[in-house]
Amino acid sequence: MVSADGAVLINLRRINDVSIDAGTSSAVVGGGSQWQDVVDAAAEVGLAPLAGSSPNVGVVGYTLGGGVSPTLGRAHGFAADWVQWVEIVTPDGQLRRVDRDNEPELFWAVRGGKGNFGVVTRMRFQMVPTPPLFGGGLYFAAEHVGPVLAAFQDVVAHAPDGLSISFAFLRLPDAPFVPEFLRGRFTLHVRVAYLGSAAEGEKLIAPLRAAAPPMVDTVAEMPFAAIAGIHADPVDPLPAYERGTFLRELPTAAIEALVNAAGPETGTPLVMVEVRHLGGALARPPSTPSAVLRRDASFQLFVAAVGDPGMDEAFRPEIQSVLDAMRPWSAEGSQINFLTAYDTNPEGVRAAYGPDVFDRLARIKHRYDQGNMFRINHNIAPAN
Ligand SMILES: Cc1cc2nc3c(=O)[nH]c(=O)nc-3n(C[C@H](O)[C@H](O)[C@H](O)COP(=O)(O)OP(=O)(O)OC[C@H]3O[C@@H](n4cnc5c(N)ncnc54)[C@H](O)[C@@H]3O)c2cc1C
Repeated sequence: MVSADGAVLINLRRINDVSIDAGTSSAVVGGGSQWQDVVDAAAEVGLAPLAGSSPNVGVVGYTLGGGVSPTLGRAHGFAADWVQWVEIVTPDGQLRRVDRDNEPELFWAVRGGKGNFGVVTRMRFQMVPTPPLFGGGLYFAAEHVGPVLAAFQDVVAHAPDGLSISFAFLRLPDAPFVPEFLRGRFTLHVRVAYLGSAAEGEKLIAPLRAAAPPMVDTVAEMPFAAIAGIHADPVDPLPAYERGTFLRELPTAAIEALVNAAGPETGTPLVMVEVRHLGGALARPPSTPSAVLRRDASFQLFVAAVGDPGMDEAFRPEIQSVLDAMRPWSAEGSQINFLTAYDTNPEGVRAAYGPDVFDRLARIKHRYDQGNMFRINHNIAPAN
């Protein structure tokens, strides 16, 4: 892990303006803006951004790391693909506006290279007309894991690009901030977002509802502005230990391996083991190429533990054991937004991007940040 001792933290919280232009279906946002503010402002004029699962993740940090939207990603690709320009203060103190014509190499690098090239103070991106949305969560008790995950495979096998689906093994603490039905027990949470009518959506997810009676079922027609309720991510800071990987496929043997490693019968302390279905437009090349190049994985696995600072030694082997169990189905690389402190070492970052993209990023880094001023991150050291 990279130590931030002696570093300067630049807080952009107050550069959080959001301006929507309905005529061009675009948004200009400040470097510290958060997703729910954009989602709400866009909804007022019938538009939807490629937002993530959490309402208070930063728009710019998310987008520079690729940005995988669990509602619109499979239909429209990565959020980084929809960026039109960024204003960035580079390490030489210059404020530059970069796009596909002005400093195209930097524009390529910053969309995927994240915080390595400077501070993005403002960014403009395109949005889509607000789609009809049939979404929510299905929560199942531990004894239904087998049939529900078999149904998950079935739904994925027939999923149109408008359907995004994921599941998570949740082991949430018996604490007042956790909804009562989730407290202190194992729960299987299936998340659904379908960009279409309720009638079509009902048909698509019918195998899940038929597999077992959910404890709670919130899947219904919903306003796009309420998307944060689909994953119901925590919104307060947590001391989390996390790691993820891509999966090429999710056959029955992989599901069995995951259940054996982290399912209800195990004593794992992990609070969440999540599998998101990717593919669709996320797997297609963008019109303006960027450093987001790992596009062929079908699934993304993400594993998280929460505990006091210093619990690294206890959690590290637990997290690793789940990744090891899934190794036969793992794909190379990682989603940059899900690259965590465990992977911030040079080998981890290089492996996440792959050598070609990494080397190109390193050459661009050398041009703009020869002294590696921006290095408390998933660092791309400047090429010599
Ligand atoms: C609950 C939760 C749900 C998530 N869901 C998704 C999801 O659905 N899809 C997805 O793709 N990701 C998701 N993520 C990952 C998320 O996109 C990354 O954690 C991202 O880094 C968050 O950015 P931030 O600005 O909120 O965080 P920060 O900690 O503020 O920023 C993280 C890093 O991003 C860079 N950065 C941020 N802002 C700027 C800027 N203005 N200029 C230059 N660099 C900047 C910096 O290197 C900074 O250290 C989720 C994260 C959480 C915590």
